[in-house]
Amino acid sequence: MKYLRQLFIGIGFLLLGSLLVPSLTHANEGQSYEVYSSVLNVRGEPASDGEIIGVLSKGNKVMAFQEKYGWVQTYYGGHVAWVAKHHLIPVANTSQSSSANTQSVTTTDSITVTANSVRLRSGPGTDYNVIGSSSAGDTYNIVETNGDWHQIKFSNGSTGWIAAWLTNTSSTSEQSSEPINTSNNTNNNTPQSESLEGYTIVLDPGHGGKDSGAIALNGIYEKDLVSDTAVRVADELRNAGATVIVTRNGDYFVSLDNRASISNSYQTDAFVSLHYDSFPTIGVNGVTTYFGNGSDRGLAQNIQSSLASTVSLDNRGIMQRDFSVLRGTTAPSVLIELGFISNPNDLAIVQTAAYQNQVATAITDGLVDYFHR
Ligand SMILES: [Zn+2]
Repeated sequence: MKYLRQLFIGIGFLLLGSLLVPSLTHANEGQSYEVYSSVLNVRGEPASDGEIIGVLSKGNKVMAFQEKYGWVQTYYGGHVAWVAKHHLIPVANTSQSSSANTQSVTTTDSITVTANSVRLRSGPGTDYNVIGSSSAGDTYNIVETNGDWHQIKFSNGSTGWIAAWLTNTSSTSEQSSEPINTSNNTNNNTPQSESLEGYTIVLDPGHGGKDSGAIALNGIYEKDLVSDTAVRVADELRNAGATVIVTRNGDYFVSLDNRASISNSYQTDAFVSLHYDSFPTIGVNGVTTYFGNGSDRGLAQNIQSSLASTVSLDNRGIMQRDFSVLRGTTAPSVLIELGFISNPNDLAIVQTAAYQNQVATAITDGLVDYFHR
């Protein structure tokens, strides 16, 4: 009942919007929707058994590019994605369609770029052409937001798209009676001991979704352990000033090619893939850092040395191996095996918060050593 009412309100909004501002709807822009359910799975295919590639929550905005079988196609994390339409309510396309609505005001949303060498693209995804580049501190007005991407306006009047996670949004209302949104952080530009400031690190938590990775002696999955580790490592890298991009931030499948593509779509300074090892013989143990290309030996050495001096697990050293995720990335790249979950001693240690924190510190320190050597 409530759903229907919301739907009618939404449709009313849509009709009102299209009557008032017909000229604002460009040919390449679809209908905007708002997520109505508390949690909405984002899938790779327009089907209820399609692979889950992400999750949206109530109030998130979705821009539709096409519809099929009751599914709406949008973009998520730069990739084509589908959400079930019956969890969406339509909303008016732009904030300018406000004149007949008491709670709307003319709003100018702007973004500040938070990383250096951020690519500007012709559309909302990494599949689109690069049309320019932007630096930390640059500000732009937002034309619209589509999933994880903002369409922004340049001073010459043309537009382009930027990844939202490399920006901060601020909102200023011209006639609002409410206080201006205070969620934007004002200490962004306070440098501390930010030794990775200006560096973009792609963290790649191995496996996910249908690919559980190795299964530990106690039944836990490698994919879950690396997810936990990645969260801590990402925190530590951000504390050190780095821009961090993760190739997955939930339990869903990402192909090896896509992991490399995500990294290659940024001006990535280092790509770090996180794994836990497994071996049929229970006695094999220790931490290993792999590199593919000979030119990445130095990165592997810095990280492995830092790990070896920080964690209590055995140091197996660095090894060269032709992993496809390393081969596919253009940035310096390593794959770290953070202990054997087929070994009882390693397994007991790697599950502790202390170990996870040590790993986060060690990887961060290793990257600092690498970039400042
Ligand atoms: Zn693995």
